Parts: sequence; C-alpha cells; structure tokens
Amino acid sequence: MISVTVDAQGQMLGNPIDMLLAGYARGLLSMPLHALVASHLAIKPDSRRFVSALESAGGSVLEAVAPGPVADRERRLAAIFAAEDAPSPVPPAAADAIVPLPLARYLGRPLSEVPWRTLLPGVKEFKIEDNADGESSLYWIRAGRKIPSHTHDGSEFTLVLSGAFSDINGHYGRGDIAVADSDVDHRPTADPGADCFCFAVTDAPLRLTGPIGRIVQRLFGH
Ligand code: ZN
Repeated sequence: MISVTVDAQGQMLGNPIDMLLAGYARGLLSMPLHALVASHLAIKPDSRRFVSALESAGGSVLEAVAPGPVADRERRLAAIFAAEDAPSPVPPAAADAIVPLPLARYLGRPLSEVPWRTLLPGVKEFKIEDNADGESSLYWIRAGRKIPSHTHDGSEFTLVLSGAFSDINGHYGRGDIAVADSDVDHRPTADPGADCFCFAVTDAPLRLTGPIGRIVQRLFGH
C-alpha cells in the first residue's frame, strides 16, 4: 500500500519507495530514475497497480524528461582498483532477456555489448550517465562478491535485474529496488551461486567509507 502525503509546501512525504513511485506517477523523475521505475514496474505487476491507482487519483500525466549529457570522464575508482580479476566473458546474448524494455531503451545497447570496466576484482561497472544531478550505472557483481562499504550524500536506488544481493537493509531479488541514503553505510554482497546484475541511480556522488574508501576520498579530496 502506497502512503504518500503532500505537505503545505507541496513536498511529498513518505517512505523512499512510495515517494519514488509517486514521483513516477506524477512525471517528476529524472530520465534514469524514470527508466528504473518503469523497469521495476515491468517486472513487478503489483507495483504497476499502485501506480495506476496514483495516476488515476492524481490525474497526472507522465512527462518525458530530456536526457542529460552522457559524461565519459575517466573512472576514478578504476584507476585505483586497477587489479584485474580473471578475464570474464561478456554476458551471453541470452542475458539481454534480463533487461526490461524501458531500461533497454534508456541504455541504447544490448547488455551483451556493454563495455564493462573493472571496478575491483569481481565487480564491474558501466557508467551510463554522470552529471551534476547524479549518476546511473550498471553493475555486474560476481556471485558471492562484495562492493566496498560506502555511504551516499544523496539517495541511491538499485534495481536488481538478475541474481540477488544483500545489504544491511535486507535481501533483494529480481525486480526489487534497494534504497540507500546518507544514513546507510552499506556493503552490498551478491548471493552465492549466481552473478548479480543491477541498475543503480544515485542523485549525488557516493562517499566511500572503510580503509580503502578513506584512501580514495583523500586522493580525490572529498
Ligand atoms: Zn550504495
């Protein structure tokens, strides 16, 4: 059940997922977040019902949001964690089936043609967009691997495309959206047995914590 209220200033109040869905229904989301929610809805019919209810109740119209420029800046972390794990094959063409249509449109290329960069052994990233409003990335986490502990200045929304991962907040499988904000210091860990593919959108740069993170933060001065 979605519970979102609007305060006197017109700000929406509620839990992050409800607010995300309400923002989608009202056409307020950035393009990557829009793609994330639309993909979530393609996988999770239950949520689609909620959004339909919100749309009809609010009489709102979904708006297309102009895409931001796609940045191609050098991946700072890749330079640090240059240690390459064993060469991994690109996902087979069959893997494209895990990408819901809204995400496929946003991505603009099949998963099998994504130029993955190794973030650290067992964790690959493809940064789709990176601008002042935040970042969007695909992550490919090998079965059983962990992402270093980190927090976020803003909010991070992560949609699981295949496999599953856990963090301090819970366990997330295909179609689930995990939310992490500045209060959460989490260390996502992929389930053993299957690689985990995720689509993550942050509305502000993430802040690494822990020993490695502190070194990285010092190097880059934030
Ligand atoms: Zn995170």
